[in-house]
Parts: sequence; structure tokens; C-alpha cells
Amino acid sequence: MAKKQKIVIIGGGAAGFFAAITCAETNKNAEVIIVERGKDVLNKVKISGGGRCNVTHAIWTPRELVKNYPRGARELMGPFSKFCTGDTVDWFAKRDVETKIEDDGRMFPVSDSSQSIVDCLWKSAKRAGVKIYNSSRVENIYPPEQKGQPWKVMINNGDNALYPDKIMMASGSNPKMWDVLKHLGHAIVPPVPSLFTFNIKDTRIKDLLGISMPNAEVKINGIDLPKKSRTAHGPLLITHWGLSGPAILKLSAIAARELNEKKYRFEISVNWRYGYSVNETTEDLEELGTEISKKLVRSNPQFGFPQRLWHRLVDAADIPAERRWGEIGKKMRGKLAAQIAHCTFQVNGKSTFKEEFVTAGGVELNEIDFQRFESKIHDNLFFAGEVLNIDAVTGGFNFQAAWTGGYLAGLALAE
Ligand SMILES: Cc1cc2nc3c(=O)[nH]c(=O)nc-3n(C[C@H](O)[C@H](O)[C@H](O)COP(=O)(O)OP(=O)(O)OC[C@H]3O[C@@H](n4cnc5c(N)ncnc54)[C@H](O)[C@@H]3O)c2cc1C
Repeated sequence: MAKKQKIVIIGGGAAGFFAAITCAETNKNAEVIIVERGKDVLNKVKISGGGRCNVTHAIWTPRELVKNYPRGARELMGPFSKFCTGDTVDWFAKRDVETKIEDDGRMFPVSDSSQSIVDCLWKSAKRAGVKIYNSSRVENIYPPEQKGQPWKVMINNGDNALYPDKIMMASGSNPKMWDVLKHLGHAIVPPVPSLFTFNIKDTRIKDLLGISMPNAEVKINGIDLPKKSRTAHGPLLITHWGLSGPAILKLSAIAARELNEKKYRFEISVNWRYGYSVNETTEDLEELGTEISKKLVRSNPQFGFPQRLWHRLVDAADIPAERRWGEIGKKMRGKLAAQIAHCTFQVNGKSTFKEEFVTAGGVELNEIDFQRFESKIHDNLFFAGEVLNIDAVTGGFNFQAAWTGGYLAGLALAE
């Protein structure tokens, strides 16, 4: 009988569990062990999506899906053509976890509870015979000295060691594990935060917490970035600290590295009315001068602006409270149009986005064979999830990368 293969998966998160289950279900003759430093596994899945777990996103083709990965888009094309969002939905449905699509495309378990996903992964792993060693911190790993020999995995200050045939790194964004990988010869792209909100102190948005505009465009100024990395549009939300919402989060992900280099001090311009330039807005304001000439500018918000935000922009354009639409001249019109369509703010720092934050950086992608998520430097060393230099905008895409990587690495581990 063939020798029973021993597989050690470092990290009991989304990627580690998906790989372990796939491997154990595919190769019944493999001994699959998840080694997790924490007391509990699947901690991030549990707290994800505000406790609801945004499992994936309703974009069904690899070509469209990869557009949401500022790092990893090119490398994920192939993997997504083998295991895409539809496969994730089916995978969970087959295990009795139905998912639903929200208006913005994010997908959650129908239960609206991340516990359904945690339970499903836990039960599937147990059913497949996966062994789970918790409170077991991997300190170091050593490659085989000769072909055919096992790896050595040192656990808890060397108290314990495992000798697997194959290893998978699913340790997320743990700097210590990146150091271990550096010693094995892998290059690590230095980690920087991604998915954060912009801190702005400015009288125009002070104390307007909770006010939003449905479709604004945000542009980063003065940083050398490709054009498509400089702007994003979507709902814009004023928070206690500054600005948030999909447009800001998207920019924080796309420009994660450049903004880190700037120490999060930079300028943005906001077009609160996406799709209409300063000139077009000036023309629209001129028309209002005849259409509603007798009405007061300040107390008659236009273009869907909430009253309080409109007041601030009118004040910033130096338009007196008693001024009527028919009474504003070219200069004031120009100033108001600029506040609406090219409203500049100084960003000074960042804040953590409460629902989801990730790290940009990790194992250099050109060192990975993405057919199998295997190292090109060492045989029998596999990776998936946040340990790699892959990350996405918010919306369920980070988990999708972990499921896909975990699944394909799991198949390769099972060989
Ligand atoms: C608050 C929050 C909410 C989020 N919500 C969402 C969401 O709704 N949708 C989405 O797509 N993404 C979300 N994300 C991002 C998502 O959680 C991650 O992208 C995903 O968990 C990455 O999975 P992973 O398995 O690579 O890493 P992790 O989930 O971080 O798992 C890595 C595991 O490895 C273990 N480990 C590390 N080092 C060692 C070691 N030396 N020895 C043993 N074990 C070790 C860790 O303890 C951990 O359990 C969220 C992130 C956060 C922080």
C-alpha cells in the first residue's frame, strides 16, 4: 500500500480550512493537519462582514472579477477560471449553507450570521478527517535536506515538531511567518495597510457625521499614479474623522503603497456630483439663476445635496445667506461650481474601516506557480490567502481569493 502522505497546513483561517477540506476529501489516504497558533480557529471569518461574513461577490466571470484586485489581478485570472464565485456559492450550498445577494452585489449567508460559515467549515473539516492542533504556534520550518525526505515544522518554542511531506502556508499577514519564508529564499513585498478611511479636518464637513452623497468622484492629487488608480466613484460618506464609503475604500486599496509612502498626507478633490464637470455645473447654476431666480441660494439645495452639506458648500463659496439665485454673478457661480465639482481637501492620516481591513504585501507573486499555488523555489511548499501579495477592494473579494487559492492548493496537496 502507498505510504500515507502527511500534510501540514499552517493557519486555521479561510484559506487553510478550504485547502485542508479539499485535500482530505480528494485524497482519503492523506493525513491532513491544520496547525493554528490561536485557541480558536476561523477567528477572522467569525468577525468578518460585521458578524455576517461577506463570503463572496456576485460577479461571475474571471475577467470582471479580477478587476477588484489591485494586487494579484493578472495572477488570479487562471485560478478564477478553475474556481470562481459560482463555485464558492455551490460549495457552500452543497453543505447546506445558502447565500443571498445584496443590492450592491455582496453575498452573505442567508442566516446573516458568520457562524453558519464557521460551522460549515468546521464540520466539513471534521467529516473529512482533518486534524486540528490549536494553541500551536509554528516557530520555524526547515526544508528537506534531500529529495524524498520530509519537511520539519517546529511548534511552540521547539516543544514539538511535525515531519510532513507537504506544507501549506496559510498564515495570513503574520510578519513572523514572512520572516521564516524570507529565510527559505522567498522575497516578501513589505506589508502596508489597505482598506482604510481618510482623516480630514475641515469646516465644510465638520459635525456632518452620517451625511452621504450617492455618487461622488474622489481623485487623489499630486501623487504619481496611473490615471485609473487616481480616481474612484460611488457613495461617499462623511464620518466623525473625515470621509469614508466605497469610493474612499477603493482608492485606499488601489493606492495603498503610494499613500503609505506619503505617510497618509495628501490632497484629494471631490466631485460631489459625479459625471458633471466644473464647467457643466457652472452652466447648470446659470440656468437656475433664471429658473428659480427669486429663491434663496442657501435654503434651496440642488442636485440632491442634503441641506446641511449644501449650506457648508454655499458658505465656502462666500455666498451670503440672503442672496437669491437670480443675484449671483459669474465669480460666485464659479466658486460654488468648484465647491460642488472640484472640492479639495487635505487628508492627514487614516482610520481603520470597521468591517474589513487587509494587508497589501506578502510573498512575491512571480515566485508562485498559480496552477497549483506552489512555490517555484521549493517543491511541496504551497500558499494561499493573505500570506501572498494579493488583496482586493472591499465586498467579499478577499475571501474569494482565499477560497480559490485554498481550493487549488488543496487539490495539489492531495496529489
Ligand atoms: C474585521 C475584518 C473583517 C473582514 N471581513 C471580510 C469580509 O466580510 N469579506 C471578505 O472578503 N474579507 C473580509 N476580511 C478580510 C479577510 O478576513 C481576509 O482576507 C481572510 O481572512 C484571509 O484569510 P487567510 O486564511 O489568508 O488568513 P487568516 O484568516 O488571517 O488566517 C490565518 C491564520 O493563521 C494563523 N497563524 C498565523 N501565524 C501562525 C503561526 N506561526 N502558527 C500557527 N498559526 C498561525 C492565524 O492565527 C490565523 O488563524 C475581513 C478582515 C477583517 C480584519
